Amino acid sequence: MQISADKVVYFHYTLRNDAGEVLDSSDGMDPLPYIHGHANIVPGLEKELEGLSVGDKKSVKVPPEEGYGERQEDATQEVPFDEFPEEIPREEGLQIFAESPDGQHFPLWITEVKENSVVLDANHPLAGETLHFDVEIVEVRAADEEELAHGHVHGPGGHEH
Ligand code: ZN
Repeated sequence: MQISADKVVYFHYTLRNDAGEVLDSSDGMDPLPYIHGHANIVPGLEKELEGLSVGDKKSVKVPPEEGYGERQEDATQEVPFDEFPEEIPREEGLQIFAESPDGQHFPLWITEVKENSVVLDANHPLAGETLHFDVEIVEVRAADEEELAHGHVHGPGGHEH
């Protein structure tokens, strides 16, 4: 079975930056599942996996505009602790969600925790990076109706609910 729209794909991956440093990897873990054609993974990787089958390996280079976007300047803000929600851990690297005045939810990342404030950045930590993926396809199956309705994979490695 080949990878095409609405297929559930399980794959192993190693992600490196331009300098060859490993940023992320499924090495030693279960393969990562996603539903093809549902924007579960970055667009530049998804389009290169189209048509592959179980056992196929591929190296994919993804430019920032097809990855996590270009890095935007002036996208940081410093928020004093007394204006920062108490229930959110003050932890560098943590992704949080903020709500704009028109009710849209958007992600922010905590990039620095200072003595009395946190620094938030609207850039994804990998924004501006060219991504180098080495992938191996482990399993391809049809998504079931519920998975398609939810837009994500259920079961091991996916959503459990
Ligand atoms: Zn679900």
